[in-house]
Amino acid sequence: MTASERIPVAILGATGSVGQRFIQLLADHPWFRVAEVVASDRSAGKTYGEAAGWRLETLLPDDIAAMTVKNLGADLTSRLVFSGLDSSVAGDAEDDYANRGCAVISNARNHRMDADVPLLIPEVNASHVDAIATQQQRFRNHGYIVTNPNCSVMGLAIALAPLEKEFGVEAVHTTTMQAISGAGYAGVASYAILDNVIPYIGGGEEDKIEAEPRKILGSWTNGRFEDAPLKISAQVNRVPVIDGHLMTASVKLRGRAPLDDVRRCLESFTGEPQRLGLPSAPRHPIHYIDAQDRPQPRLDRDREGGMAVSVGRLRACPLLDFRMVVLVHNTIRGAAGAAILNAELLHSRGLLP
Ligand code: NAP
Repeated sequence: MTASERIPVAILGATGSVGQRFIQLLADHPWFRVAEVVASDRSAGKTYGEAAGWRLETLLPDDIAAMTVKNLGADLTSRLVFSGLDSSVAGDAEDDYANRGCAVISNARNHRMDADVPLLIPEVNASHVDAIATQQQRFRNHGYIVTNPNCSVMGLAIALAPLEKEFGVEAVHTTTMQAISGAGYAGVASYAILDNVIPYIGGGEEDKIEAEPRKILGSWTNGRFEDAPLKISAQVNRVPVIDGHLMTASVKLRGRAPLDDVRRCLESFTGEPQRLGLPSAPRHPIHYIDAQDRPQPRLDRDREGGMAVSVGRLRACPLLDFRMVVLVHNTIRGAAGAAILNAELLHSRGLLP
């Protein structure tokens, strides 16, 4: 595709932590180009460069810096819309753009558990895109919404998916150590998090971690989602790390499996994005790391451009069957990168408007 043939996309919430990742990851994307940036009335009318206060380590592209930020609700020319909106406004705004005939690919929690909205991880549940046809009957103009999971869930669900498929997963206990970027730029005051760990994350974080993997690992059958039967107990913590959610997980399987088989199952996991060679797909969705003190956020979060999940410290558990440590880059694989991979899958299936 030449630059001018690339599919124009709009980013809702373009100025936020996730929005900035979208801009960064789409800068050289072979299929998509950023055509419109949208944020709140605080930012609308300013150039993106003025409004965003760019905070990423790569340079903000000049053409994006010069774009005028549109207000939420504005007419858009793009039919593919990525949403990194705050959840206080995401629900209605995403419905609105879906009703205008857009494919809305969202990071927000609002529509994740809707009865006909895929909670999509292309390696894990690509068949859930079949639910889009049901949505197109309720939205006007053939629009629809596809969501990606909570950022911690992304790591956990990818690590559990091959185990669920091969052995069945019965129960999981997880404790997360979540980076401050997961709360958005203004989310956690530096005075509150430095020299500290906060054993609470609002917005129903533990509930999301306990519920979303059941939908993701379940099936779309006869026009409805059926949850996988696993039970999850989650405890969450905010820690003074900038990017990268680390979590420990103890797992009970339905069948018996030696640790060597569990490790082989994790390491050999691939899915539809790898078969299709999608541009943002990691070659290996799971990197198993041998070193006894890994994965670590600073050292391992950027594997495969932040799109691979790292797993390590697989060992027996005296309570359940085994335990492991999982790491996911929360604003890349856990947010913007995930949404872009979702859009790539939809494009490859001919489902983009
Ligand atoms: P953020 O840094 O606070 O950014 C929020 C964005 O929403 C900004 O662009 C902001 O625009 C816009 N916004 C806020 N209020 C608005 C309003 N009333 N009207 C229109 N736009 C409004 O948050 P974030 O961390 O990027 O998260 C964005 C979404 O992704 C949230 O739903 C979050 O739960 C989800 N998510 C985040 C992560 C993560 O790791 N950060 C991971 C997965 C999912 P202004 O700049 O103009 O205020």
